[in-house]
Parts: sequence; structure tokens; C-alpha cells
Amino acid sequence: MRKYFIAGNWKMNKTSDEAADLVREIVQTVGQQMEVEVVVCPPFTALSSVAPLLEGATVNLGAQNMHPASDGPFTGEVSAEMLRAHFATYVILGHSERRSYFGETDTFVNKKVLAAIKNQLKPIICVGETLEERKADETVGVIERQLDGGLKGVDEESAAGIVIAYEPVWAIGTGKVATPKQAQGVHVFIRGWLENRFGKPVSQKMRLIYGGSMTTLNATELLAQQDIDGGLIGGASLAANSFIDLVTAASPEQG
Ligand code: PEP
Repeated sequence: MRKYFIAGNWKMNKTSDEAADLVREIVQTVGQQMEVEVVVCPPFTALSSVAPLLEGATVNLGAQNMHPASDGPFTGEVSAEMLRAHFATYVILGHSERRSYFGETDTFVNKKVLAAIKNQLKPIICVGETLEERKADETVGVIERQLDGGLKGVDEESAAGIVIAYEPVWAIGTGKVATPKQAQGVHVFIRGWLENRFGKPVSQKMRLIYGGSMTTLNATELLAQQDIDGGLIGGASLAANSFIDLVTAASPEQG
């Protein structure tokens, strides 16, 4: 059985003090439960205020991005080593906002994936199609290209710890959520691709999570799908109550 995985992507929100306040509330309520793997991904500037508050709690720390190089002349960037020094366990890579606003290609995402693995950071790799691509019936082709490119050179052992987030671009921050059937359909395709690439035992271990306007109103039905193992939550992760409700929705006794 795969453990459900709920991660909050805070994007460019919360000062370090605000982040600490939010994480205190989260830890107070779901910081000792073991049923769901919970991850918070604050901005870089809040990693150091959040990390100490997670000590002794079951909530893990993630970052939202990183550069593939270990150091050097990359103004404004941070490396995997720097994130590890802040006790990050996960890192979101290839988010559609990085791909569309900062021109990140599958090749660049792949370099980050390999650098993260080398530094014992677990990637949460985002894939997903735009509305135009969905309308043109290109969804599967786009996902396949992003998986082929992003996971190049990844070995089976490392793959087992990777989380794949299916995030249709048209659903992110729009209030338009994929139907459970649409999301499950893509997740089945991803699971099949992973099975081909890494073999069945590894593909069955990997968590495939859905992201895109997930809230308590739609989470139960999405999480009930066989291949949806959790959620990457943007807007609804910015308030403790709505995030905690999503962790509760993913708890096995709810299903
Ligand atoms: C995201 O940005 O990863 C995301 C899923 O955002 P939202 O939940 O706000 O759609």
C-alpha cells in the first residue's frame, strides 16, 4: 500500500514569520499522525524559520525549486546542498510556473532531478498539459515527453522515492479542477510509463499525486481513485484549516 502524500506549495507567499505561524498550526494538529506523509514547501527565505518547528514532527520540509549546479555564478539561485543544509527532504521540480515564466525545459528539469538525487533530496516532479494541448488531444504526448526528458538517467532505486505530480496547467490556481475520471486516466498512463521504465515493483511504490485547484470540496473523490496517491496543494495550503482538512481527507479511515 502506498502512503498518501499531501504537499503544500506556498509559492511566493508568506514572510518567514508568517510561515512559522502557519507551520505551528499545522504541526499542532497533524504533526504526529503517521497515516499521511505531509510536506510543506515554503519560499527559500522561510526555510530557516520553518525547519526547527518540524523537529520531532511527522511533517517534512520541501523547497520549491533549485539549481542543478552545486555552487557558482548563478545569481539568485540556490543549490541542492544549500537546501539539505536547511533540512529539506523534498524539492518541487518542473512546476508549470517555472516552465512557463522562466523557460525551464525538460533537459534543465532533468539536470535538477539528477542533482537532487545525488544530494539525497527527493524530487516532486510536475508534469501537465495546457488547455490548448488538451483540446488538441495532445495530453498523453506532452506527459510522455516530460517524463522521458525529466527522468532520463534516473535509476530504479532512486525512482522509488520520486513523487510525480500530475498538474494540468489549466487547473492550477483557476478553480477549474480535473474530473476524477480525467485525472485517474492520466495517472494510469503515468503509472504505465513508470512500469515500462522502472519495472512493476518500483512503479507500484511510487506516489502519483494530483495538483490543480484541489480543495476539500473535490479532494475525497479525487483521492478515491486508485492511482491518485495524494495532492500538491497551492491556494488551499496557505491557510492551516484548509490544508489540515486535506490531510484529513487523505487519511485512510476517511476512505
Ligand atoms: C500548484 O501550484 O501546484 C497548485 C496545485 O496550485 P492550486 O492548488 O492553487 O491550483
